[in-house]
Amino acid sequence: MSIRVIEEKCVGCGLCSRKCPQSAITVVNKKASIDESKCIVCKLCVNTCRFNAIEVVGQKQENSEKSSYKGIAVYAESIDGKFNPVAYELLSKANDLVVKTGENVFAFVLGSGFTDENLSTLCKYADFVYVVDNPFLEKYRDDVYSKVMAYILKQYKPSAILSGSTIRGRSFMPRVATELETGLTADCISIEMDENTGNLIQTRPAFGGDLMASILCENTRPQMSTVRQGVFPVNESINKNGKIVKVDVPEELLKSNMEILGFEPCSCSDVNIADYDIVVAGGRGLRNEKGFALLRQLADLLGGCVAGSRPACDCGFIPHSAQIGQTGVTIKPKLYLAIGISGAVQHISGVEEAELIIAVNTDPNAPIFDIADYGIIADAFEFLPALIEKIKDKKFAKK
Ligand SMILES: Cc1cc2nc3c(=O)[nH]c(=O)nc-3n(C[C@H](O)[C@H](O)[C@H](O)COP(=O)(O)OP(=O)(O)OC[C@H]3O[C@@H](n4cnc5c(N)ncnc54)[C@H](O)[C@@H]3O)c2cc1C
Repeated sequence: MSIRVIEEKCVGCGLCSRKCPQSAITVVNKKASIDESKCIVCKLCVNTCRFNAIEVVGQKQENSEKSSYKGIAVYAESIDGKFNPVAYELLSKANDLVVKTGENVFAFVLGSGFTDENLSTLCKYADFVYVVDNPFLEKYRDDVYSKVMAYILKQYKPSAILSGSTIRGRSFMPRVATELETGLTADCISIEMDENTGNLIQTRPAFGGDLMASILCENTRPQMSTVRQGVFPVNESINKNGKIVKVDVPEELLKSNMEILGFEPCSCSDVNIADYDIVVAGGRGLRNEKGFALLRQLADLLGGCVAGSRPACDCGFIPHSAQIGQTGVTIKPKLYLAIGISGAVQHISGVEEAELIIAVNTDPNAPIFDIADYGIIADAFEFLPALIEKIKDKKFAKK
């Protein structure tokens, strides 16, 4: 992919030259001229030219161009300076993927007000931590984050970038893929590398979870994948001493179409169900608010959190951030209690790695019993109050 000046249209106004962050454009004999060794095809000039005199050519990357992309990058998402745990999981996976190639692992960080101390937690897992630290990135905006991420990907050219399937990752990574004209595989549950080609084998459920599809991005770089929290383990034994590199981006990229008038955190946003050892989940079988109030009481007594199936979230009994499954969160708790949940494949895919599963259901043939370690055939509205009373009687209850 490269940038071409259409000479018949160019009037030599020099606007593109002034905008180019790479100083790759000069005006020679009243025509813009592009130095390809400097150009990173950020396309600012294409969008800037008032005469439509600049175009992108050769969208499909050549093999020689592909081979200039090296290493695996991870977007390390941070909110208020705290990195999302999925970043460490993905960095661990990235280290796995480069074992045979010996290439670098990069962490890409976007935000504001980072200290060396909090960045150092990433240095353990990455060879380079590239940080764009700018007050304008303090509050998340789709358009700005995607422009900045696309810019640094062009600059550092990793062969692949992995991001958490978080609300942000799902929101802005597809925009980056569109900007870079490359492919993105969302919600991968496995990623391996074909060492001969460097292609990632990105596996994700398809057709409502009935099939596992392995997707390759053969023609373009970087390859892009999003992965949910809990899919890959953190490898604590990695002990790199990565270098922190502060990256400046052109001011132009920090302009947004959005104005943030205020910021009000959602009351549920501090609960990340993937962080809990005990998860008490309810499904459609709990019917109403009363059912979920009982569930909350139980979760409090056990020191766990409340989660649920998709219908439970769709009905508004719990927030969507607490949905378990293929289109929700993947969890690996020590104890998973499924109450009034049938056990559809899309739900189970988010919880099958729990250490202990206990299911309560009125239907003895409910599929949840196929994966449960203990199955209890009971009505939730009789079972829950009885269990809550029993726990209250015992000294081990937390409240
Ligand atoms: C593409 C796609 C993605 C999806 N992603 C997800 C996902 O991420 N997560 C997810 O959960 N679902 C997902 N679904 C929906 C999924 O297919 C199921 O429809 C859903 O999981 C069913 O939720 P449920 O078990 O709460 O409800 P139901 O299937 O209606 O089951 C309710 C259960 O409660 C039992 N019950 C009824 N009354 C009581 C009682 N009084 N006491 C005890 N038990 C009782 C019933 O016997 C039944 O087994 C997805 C579907 C599609 C097509």
